[in-house]
Amino acid sequence: MNQRIPVVEKILNANDRLAAENRRLLDEHGVFAINLMASPGAGKTSLIEQTVPRLAAELRLAVVDGDIATSLDADRAAAAGAIAVQINTGGDCHLDAVMLQQALAQLDLRAVDLLIVENVGNLVCPASFALGTHLSVLVASVPEGDDKPYKYPGMYRGVEALVINKIDLLPYVPFRMDYFRQGVELLNPGLRTFPLSCRTGEGLEAWLDWLRGETRRRQGEHR
Ligand code: MG
Ligand code: ZN
Repeated sequence: MNQRIPVVEKILNANDRLAAENRRLLDEHGVFAINLMASPGAGKTSLIEQTVPRLAAELRLAVVDGDIATSLDADRAAAAGAIAVQINTGGDCHLDAVMLQQALAQLDLRAVDLLIVENVGNLVCPASFALGTHLSVLVASVPEGDDKPYKYPGMYRGVEALVINKIDLLPYVPFRMDYFRQGVELLNPGLRTFPLSCRTGEGLEAWLDWLRGETRRRQGEHR
């Protein structure tokens, strides 16, 4: 039974090596990249749609969309004004560093400031596969329930920022923000959070400010 563990470790190590190559490539070209993860329906694509047009005047944006079968999300990102590349994972429930490497090869990285990678909707394995992006961002949403940090600790532990989407629904669903935040704090103390609503626009400014700031800061470090 233990025979299988070294194989899995080898695959993950190979992935880490490729992720490091991706990171080098991004840094060489002054691209700041985030890995956007969430369960299906939390609002990753909606967040991209709200983010792209609001930053387009200042930053050159690209989106890499991981999807199991369709190009619907990449189409929405492109419609919002981003350069969009679609990765069909062919059934895989997460992106890995090879897939991102192939997507990066399709982009003119010299013409990109901020790259948003939309991972496959899944709260489990995307957390285990480094892509080479600089920061991981989790999108949670109010209708999913306030118990998600407790049920998916690996995901909540591994991210550098947390968007809490659909706060406009707080009056209508039994979501205890205190209980949710307690779980987050337990797993990832001091995690930066952005409560917002992609539907009403409430809270978006803080998220955009953070993205602007991080992009400029990282670019400054590598130029
Ligand atoms: Mg999506
Ligand atoms: Zn997976």
